[in-house]
Amino acid sequence: MCKLLLVVPCYNEQEILEKTYSTLLTYFSELKERNAITADSKICFVNDGSRDSTWIIIDSICKRDANVIGLKLSRNFGHQAALVAGLLHHKNQFDCYISIDADLQDDLRAIDSMLEKYKEGSKIVYGVRNDRSSDSFFKRFTAETFYKLMQRMGVPTVYNHADFRLIDNQVLAEFSNFGETNLFIRGIIPMIGFQSDKVYYKRLEREAGESKYPLKKMLIFAWNGITSFSTVPMKLVLWFGVINFLIAMGITVWVLVCKLFGFTVQGWTSIVLPMTFFSGSNMIAIGLIGEYVGKIYEEVKARPRYIIETVLNEENN
Ligand code: UDP
Ligand code: MG
Repeated sequence: MCKLLLVVPCYNEQEILEKTYSTLLTYFSELKERNAITADSKICFVNDGSRDSTWIIIDSICKRDANVIGLKLSRNFGHQAALVAGLLHHKNQFDCYISIDADLQDDLRAIDSMLEKYKEGSKIVYGVRNDRSSDSFFKRFTAETFYKLMQRMGVPTVYNHADFRLIDNQVLAEFSNFGETNLFIRGIIPMIGFQSDKVYYKRLEREAGESKYPLKKMLIFAWNGITSFSTVPMKLVLWFGVINFLIAMGITVWVLVCKLFGFTVQGWTSIVLPMTFFSGSNMIAIGLIGEYVGKIYEEVKARPRYIIETVLNEENN
């Protein structure tokens, strides 16, 4: 039997939170009855600086149910940081940890299979979406491109896996050594190693409220994933520079030949074109290096990734 902690990050989820709680509660009781998890297994809602009444709802749930832990962050730190807060705050207190979104888009029944795989010896079990028909074509297309790109760049991500996963306490202990500020958990976990497995499920529709990942946030998240885990873009720029250099050599030969045969009137084109082209590519290269330098700057400061303001029902652990 496993003592389980379910970590649920919540940001402006007032429309769905009560429903999420009652669904989770029913499911949890079922798991407990079947002896799949221990009676002191818990659910932890992490309020990630919500501006609506999410925290009031969490507070009232915690008063009703001692098996629910409420964690309030001091402001909005982002989905990844909220997850890390919920996990690390309970390090060494549970046998295994499952992270799941508050909107119940991840099929709860997959948890059964996750626990099975855990019992069979897996320390990490990835929830993989094999049917994303509930997502828009655009979201599926961009996600697919992203996973392929990551794979191409040698980042060991699990295809179509988001942050619905089980990890055991040993994996969490290792994970806590990854102190990076630019968090991309789904890139870190596969790097940790250990025996892992996958569980497939159908991604459901968000039942209420709206996605907290609009296009802009999604792109920032993807860019963060790429630049935090891969230096391939820098290498590409280097190759781009090499190609530019070769073209510049060609142009030099051409200019010299023109000069030799007296076609010097053509000089304007051969000055203006390379100038614009090379200054443009220089800008791209500097900008990209700036991205990495910026990352180094953030990492060197090593600011706290989250700040916990209040914890409810903690003493029950
Ligand atoms: N979330 C969070 N902080 C944020 C944004 C999102 O804790 O700044 C939570 C959100 O409440 C949800 C999960 O992260 O539980 C995933 O967000 P969402 O379902 O909106 O993303 P999508 O499924 O649309 O990709
Ligand atoms: Mg969602």
